[in-house]
Amino acid sequence: MGKPTGFLEYSRKENELRAPLERVKDWNEFYLPISEEERMKQGARCMNCGVPYCQAGMQFEGKTFGCPLHNLIPEWNDMIMDGNFNHALSRLLKTNNFPEFTGRVCPAFCEQACICGIYGQPVTVHNNELSIIERAFEEKKMPRRCPPQYSDKKVAVVGSGPAGLAAADQLNHRGHSVTVIEKYEYAGGILMYGIPNMKLPKRVVQRRIEFMTDEGVSFVTGVDAARPEIAQRLLREYDAVLLCCGAEKPREIGVDHTGVKGVYYAMDFLHGAVERQQLGKEPAVPSAEGKAVVIIGTGNTASDCVATALRQGCRSVIQLVRRPMGDYLNAAGALPQDYAQQEAEAVFGVDPRRFSASVAELISENGELTGIRTNAGETIPCDLLIGATGFAGCAEDVCAAFGVAMNRTVTTEPEHYQTNVEKVFTAGDMHRGQSLVVWAIAEGRAVAAEVDEYLMGYTNLR
Ligand SMILES: Cc1cc2nc3c(=O)[nH]c(=O)nc-3n(C[C@H](O)[C@H](O)[C@H](O)COP(=O)(O)OP(=O)(O)OC[C@H]3O[C@@H](n4cnc5c(N)ncnc54)[C@H](O)[C@@H]3O)c2cc1C
Ligand code: SF4
Repeated sequence: MGKPTGFLEYSRKENELRAPLERVKDWNEFYLPISEEERMKQGARCMNCGVPYCQAGMQFEGKTFGCPLHNLIPEWNDMIMDGNFNHALSRLLKTNNFPEFTGRVCPAFCEQACICGIYGQPVTVHNNELSIIERAFEEKKMPRRCPPQYSDKKVAVVGSGPAGLAAADQLNHRGHSVTVIEKYEYAGGILMYGIPNMKLPKRVVQRRIEFMTDEGVSFVTGVDAARPEIAQRLLREYDAVLLCCGAEKPREIGVDHTGVKGVYYAMDFLHGAVERQQLGKEPAVPSAEGKAVVIIGTGNTASDCVATALRQGCRSVIQLVRRPMGDYLNAAGALPQDYAQQEAEAVFGVDPRRFSASVAELISENGELTGIRTNAGETIPCDLLIGATGFAGCAEDVCAAFGVAMNRTVTTEPEHYQTNVEKVFTAGDMHRGQSLVVWAIAEGRAVAAEVDEYLMGYTNLR
């Protein structure tokens, strides 16, 4: 701990956000980084606690306390304070394969567990992490870790979200030949096709895929491993197969919409938006431009739909939240807003959320959606209804193709990743259900260690 009084002298300063009315005009990232001098002060706020809860990653009564990756947070905060960003990078990469993703989208359990936050404001761990990795990429100081020697083992990773990528990265560094198989055109999973560009720029995802390719990982995209002949080939030709296919099966929106045009699931809407806005394609899912949009649900996915609809130029946007407002008030009795709700209020003058509200009936003319009736009997104009009501589990077709047992998600022994099928393993949302990027990376690392042990009889990946 370089500066014992740092937490008393300096206040917390987060990366600033661009003003809502300005940022809704484009798809650019909405964070503005702070100066290096200020970043060093933020590192100096860390108290280097005897028991650093920030890196504990414990689970208690279903809640997470501290970083699930056990990032060596006090160590790199100290190095940031000294301006020693290279050393900070080497410590950060020991535990986190992709700090550029977590540094942008992680809910930062570390900060919620930070002791500094008990009497004041927690250390800006999340922003500090991002500054270390972005600086390394910018200054071309990212160490390329090509294995000095390859084992003769071949591993297929199905699915290129953060779980599959983390497993592939670990196994490649260990010296196994890794091929990632992805059904879509671009690798990255929800990082690429779900989380919108302003939260996680697609160039950042592509940059990591290119980096991993340079280090020796092979990516094969546009291949659906749920096809029985592909699954059989993978089982025949590889020494281990990892299924990291996510859990994107949507939960029903709770109202019959057969034959009504204008109703979509959130993942289809967001996927289409990335294709249209970042990849220059014309997807089947329409843009929200000029439309009265209603989004059912709350959480990350619903908010990303609100923010995407605003950027596409919707006529109005309303978010229906099933639970009462009281459930969302903070200790001070105020209603917190996330980035998308702030943007909607800046554009339309009101918070987009309607609480204790759900869709009771759809109103349509000639098969085209024109409005909805809520459970309270209110009629709301709507020509684009988006269901962001959560996820019902993983894809059954992949499980069937590989013969793995599932119960909403793929089943394994507790704390293990091997399935009922010899040499087939699983991790990420496909294993734990819809979760978070940081947990997907943590599971990707854990499954890599288990696979390595399976292949070699021992592992040094733990
Ligand atoms: C809209 C949205 C926003 C989110 N925002 C956040 C956030 O801000 N912060 C956060 O921490 N978490 C967020 N999450 C959750 C987080 O993105 C997921 O928990 C995480 O991506 C799971 O990683 P994964 O690798 O297990 O699966 P995924 O990221 O879902 O990747 C699975 C991959 O498998 C591929 N695949 C599936 N089937 C096949 C097949 N048959 N053949 C080949 N490939 C296949 C898919 O195409 C996909 O690329 C968000 C989720 C959504 C949906
Ligand atoms: S990965 Fe998340 S919980 Fe871990 S240090 Fe980074 S922001 Fe904190």
